[in-house]
Order: sequence, then structure tokens, then C-alpha cells
Amino acid sequence: MTPFAIAVHGGAGTIDRADLTPEREQAYQHALADALRRGHALLQDGASALDAVEAAVRVLEDTPLFNAGRGSVFNADGQHEMDAAIMDGSGLQAGGVAGVQNVKNPIRLARRVMEKSGHVLISGMGAFEFAHREKIELEDDQYFFDPFRYEQWQRVQGTDATRLDHSGGERKFGTVGAVALDRHGHLAAATSTGGMTNKRYQRIGDSPVIGAGTYANDATCAISCTGNGEAFLRAVAAHDVHALMAYKGLSLDEAVRVVVHERLPPLDGEGGMIAVDRAGRVVLDFNSTGMYRGSMGADGVARTAIFR
Ligand code: ASP
Repeated sequence: MTPFAIAVHGGAGTIDRADLTPEREQAYQHALADALRRGHALLQDGASALDAVEAAVRVLEDTPLFNAGRGSVFNADGQHEMDAAIMDGSGLQAGGVAGVQNVKNPIRLARRVMEKSGHVLISGMGAFEFAHREKIELEDDQYFFDPFRYEQWQRVQGTDATRLDHSGGERKFGTVGAVALDRHGHLAAATSTGGMTNKRYQRIGDSPVIGAGTYANDATCAISCTGNGEAFLRAVAAHDVHALMAYKGLSLDEAVRVVVHERLPPLDGEGGMIAVDRAGRVVLDFNSTGMYRGSMGADGVARTAIFR
């Protein structure tokens, strides 16, 4: 059978077991499994890895459980500003949006940037206008409002503290992402986030930056990261995994291990990443206490986990 596989994440950080009731844990596992099934069904039918990662991320953006799309965190000004990117490993096409407001599915807009704009990354009002022109679905502020996120923000509002939305005993977690290998041997990666709670107005994280939080290359692997974006940007984390495989001949496991456990910690990089290589091998690794994650191969069995 031609191998194909998909993996997703819903954020990483200090996830406190005591904060997670069995019901809530189940809600997360179900949401991750839904996203996996959506992407898997497409791959099974011969769709592209690009379609599969977009579809899986949209499922996660639509649930308020995660910090992406609906349920995104608040910035220092009490607004939702979202970042997203998508990359096609065949041909190295990529698209991203940064600091966008009111876009229901930022990953959809990122794909449109890739396919229709002639650019790779568009930010703020420019991205909003492009969304409008492309008839991408918009929602009012109320759609993105989540009482828990508001409370999270209230705790740090007016200070200089930014928070990984999943750190510090918080109950809702996660930037979201997906990586996939399709039946045609192509890889793709997608990441979407509301960023970090109380982030500065128009701060941009690693997620929409190709090579930092998101990267795919048919020659090696597809990667989606989650964690404190500043460290992932400085480490050029996603591309570094590719580079270790391409130039040093490391396996996917080894390349991910080096970046997550050796390169990121000295930069105070806390978080993890999901990755798939051209053989369909999946690696889900993190240096934090937990990462919402899951994978599904050709057998169609959803394997989801939160803690180590
Ligand atoms: N990497 C994201 C950012 O810094 C946050 C996260 O992964 O939760 O914007």
C-alpha cells in the first residue's frame, strides 16, 4: 500500500494534569481525532496533503478549545490577532497571514495567499482586504470571544507579561497544526494560532513565518511547531529539522530530537513540533510537560495523547 499519514497538534506547554478533568481530556482527544479523521478521509481518497492539512486545521480552528480561529487569545489591547501559514512540499509554494482579525479560518486565507496573491506573507489590514476581495468568510468580534480567554487575559492585562496560552495552570490550550504525506508522495504543513495572551499589538510569532513555525519539503519532511514563538523564530526551528536531514543525513526522529531538546532549550524555547517524512514516519516531540497531539496512518486508527 502507498504510505500516507497525517498528524495534528493542539499546542504544547505546561499542561497541568490536575487542571484536566477526564471530561475535558476527552473533549480534547475527540477534537484531535475529528481533525485526524477529516484529513485522513481526504488522503484515503487520493486528495493532496495540502487539502488534508488545511481541512484538519479548519476543524481545530472551529472549536473554541484551541487557540486558533474561534477561541483565539486576547492581545494586550483586548483584540484577537491571528497568524497562520501553509506550505506545499512539492514545489515549495507557501502562504501566510499575520495579525489578521475577523477571519473565520485564517488557514483558508493563508492558502489563498499562496495560490492567488503572488506573495508569501500578508499582514494586518492588507490581509483583511485580501480576504474581503477573495470572499473568505468573516465573523464579528463576538464569534471569537471566549470567556475563558478573556479571564486569562485579565490576569496579565496592563503588565508586560505574555503567556503561552497553555502555560501556568491554564485550562485551554493551543495553537494548532497539521502535517501530512499523501498517496502521491507529497508533503504539506499548516499552522494556525491566536499567538500568545497579552502579546503586543501586531506582534507576529513563528507560526506564519515559513521555516520558523511551518515548513514542508518533499525532499525531507513537513513540520508544524508550537511553543513560545520568539525562540522558534530565532532557532528557525522547522527549517532546521529539514536542514539536519538534507545536509547532515539525519533521520526524522534524530533531527527533531536535536532541535527540540538541544537547539531550543538554550534559547528558552519551550514547546514541541509534529513532523512526517516522505516514508510516512511520524514524530511528535516536545520539551514541555505536554502537547496535545495525534496521528493516523493508512490503518485509520487515531492515536491521540496529551502527556508523555
Ligand atoms: N507559537 C505560537 C506563537 O508564538 C504560540 C503557540 O504555539 O502556542 O505565536
